[in-house]
Amino acid sequence: MIYDKIIAVDWSARSKPSPNKPTKDALFMCVSGGVPTYHRTRHDAMAAITAHLDEAIAQGERVLLGFDFSFGYPDGFAKALTGSDSAESVWKWLAGKVKDAPDNANNRFDVAKEINAMFGGVGPFWGCPENVADNILPSKGTHRRDHGQRERRHVELAVSSAQSTWKLFTTGSVGSQALMGLPCLWGLKERFGDDLTVWPHDCGFSQPDANITVVEIYPSLHPVDHLDATYQIEDAKQVRAVCDAFELAQTHGTLSKAFTVNADHRDADVIAQEGWILGVGINELKPPVLTNDCFALPQGVHWTPVDTALAELAGRLHPVAMTETISVTSALGRIVAQDVIAKRSNPPTANSAVDGYGFDSDSVDEDAQVLPLVDGRAAAGDAFNGVVPAGKAVRILTGAMVPQGVNTVVLEEDCTVSDTAVAFNGTLTRGANTRQAGEDIENGTKVVAKGTKLSAGDIAILVATGVSTLPVFKQLRVAILSTGDELTDVGDEAVEGQIFDANRPMLAAMFEKFGATVVDIGKVPDDPTALRAAFDRAAKSADMIITSGGASAGDEDHVSRLLQDNGSMALWRVAMKPGRPLALGVWNDTPVFGLPGNPVAAFVCALIFAKPAFDALAGLGFSTPQAFYVPAGFAKSKKAGRREYLRARIGTDGRAERFVSEGSGRISGLAWADGLIELPDGAMTIEEGDLVKYLPFSALAFRQIFPKRDPTT
Ligand code: AMP
Ligand code: MG
Repeated sequence: MIYDKIIAVDWSARSKPSPNKPTKDALFMCVSGGVPTYHRTRHDAMAAITAHLDEAIAQGERVLLGFDFSFGYPDGFAKALTGSDSAESVWKWLAGKVKDAPDNANNRFDVAKEINAMFGGVGPFWGCPENVADNILPSKGTHRRDHGQRERRHVELAVSSAQSTWKLFTTGSVGSQALMGLPCLWGLKERFGDDLTVWPHDCGFSQPDANITVVEIYPSLHPVDHLDATYQIEDAKQVRAVCDAFELAQTHGTLSKAFTVNADHRDADVIAQEGWILGVGINELKPPVLTNDCFALPQGVHWTPVDTALAELAGRLHPVAMTETISVTSALGRIVAQDVIAKRSNPPTANSAVDGYGFDSDSVDEDAQVLPLVDGRAAAGDAFNGVVPAGKAVRILTGAMVPQGVNTVVLEEDCTVSDTAVAFNGTLTRGANTRQAGEDIENGTKVVAKGTKLSAGDIAILVATGVSTLPVFKQLRVAILSTGDELTDVGDEAVEGQIFDANRPMLAAMFEKFGATVVDIGKVPDDPTALRAAFDRAAKSADMIITSGGASAGDEDHVSRLLQDNGSMALWRVAMKPGRPLALGVWNDTPVFGLPGNPVAAFVCALIFAKPAFDALAGLGFSTPQAFYVPAGFAKSKKAGRREYLRARIGTDGRAERFVSEGSGRISGLAWADGLIELPDGAMTIEEGDLVKYLPFSALAFRQIFPKRDPTT
């Protein structure tokens, strides 16, 4: 079950319209991927919600709609108020009593008094302005007595910050929000009928199979750290955060679990009556963070073969990127976060593949044909209205909808035409020269699979099948820093003993091409305090950290030292050339890839290790470089023991040339090359013309491990 739209509403019980200028503690609403909207009155918000739901139903979309007021009261209240155990009976009862004017004026305190008067003692509702308070509705909770109701719902016991639904006034005043919200919930139920299910009241603890699922939410449960300063009002941030959290959970397949939670309580009926907050009671709504020991290699392994190292790495990484909904037209290169379903068939209707004449093949003889022509014609965007009678033909152009009475088209080049008739020879199979509705993609089937990196062709088929927006993973933020006392920045003076920091711009360019949002942390001296501060900054602003230099085990290798100190360090000694050890670790939940300082080694390790890891974190899946076997334009022999990567390019003769030197200091070879030749771990003698494995740089950026399209659909 996938929701096309997630709508989160931060409700308000205000008695007047909230100010013109968006302000806190007012009504905010967010549709997944969108910017939160501000609503001055409940009437305005409900009109907007209803419009979204109407549109979704019309489009055949599924919606998850969350409100942050409580849907139920503590066990026993419904029965005492209405004689029925169901929460729904309370919604209906309140809908009959609560008056809510278009300007937010309302009678909630009167309704609360009416309810309190039905119970013994004082209460259960309390809290109101002093001039409203009386001996039926006290202004202080401590003045209540003997009303016989439990103070909290079970779910409020599970969320420590949740307030009681009996409290109607001042901070939080969740009680007033419920009094003003539940009649609206009832209104939605009446309006949308079977299309709408309220969880868990209508369906128990399972994910309902409804077009609209309404749930209770608790916005402050969801992290807002990833939202930038454009959301200045906390409520706006929080509704967006709810959408993001649920979208992410849906992407990671954990959202459905939130519906099945039975909260450790034996009596599911009681909980279903009281209601529950979606997401409370499960730990897995968020994707698991990477643990500190996630890069630990099995003991006793010294030089790990490349394939083993890659397989180890693949098993430890999972997507960490958040999701967002964006327009198809700006989605090139983005990674799809949910399977996308066609909203329309392609082609939408049967149409002609050629310019020619259409007729019913069942109504004509096998041999030479002379068919009278009907008046008019069928053209693309200009349909033939009416039915073409059996035994007659109609002029039809490429792309025109096949008119009624026509199932076959004869190519105009095969015809002799007069003003009134068309003649042609021979038989045509039924359906010839036509394209059937949905023969490419059928409405309702998968067009593009989750994990696809969108190409120009993907965009074409998405648009053709009526998809205008789609959920994608947010671009992964990659923090890049260089280490070394000898480094100076591009554009600065270099004095003797200094070298320009080539790695940082190189790695930034590579990750940019992989699809990252690059965060430049700068160069850091060989100093533990400075490096620690840089790591802190990087972890705060990015999802993945790439360093170069200082990754080995020497005196000035501070990257490995720091990771060692925080207990996450794993030095991966991979049997490859070029390449020194890779220092892998985790800093404040953020994975760190410590690449060698040598630019050639840094480049190759970034392509062979950091790129697939980046793809896994970004939602694409752990990728494998696309490879071609091409004849070698050189001879070489290599010893067993490690894999070798040669800087290479394809010559004009179609053979793979290698760079003149294998020296790892030759940065110019990186510029010269268009790809790498990968030589296997074992010994090998290459003669000119032997096939070698060539990894083009261009393909490295786009290869993905998921099938682009499910071949079964
Ligand atoms: P390291 O891994 O820190 O021992 O560095 C290995 C070699 O790479 C040394 O010769 C460094 O000067 C060089 N190197 C390290 N970082 C960079 C960089 N950012 N740009 C260019 N060369 C570097
Ligand atoms: Mg160094």
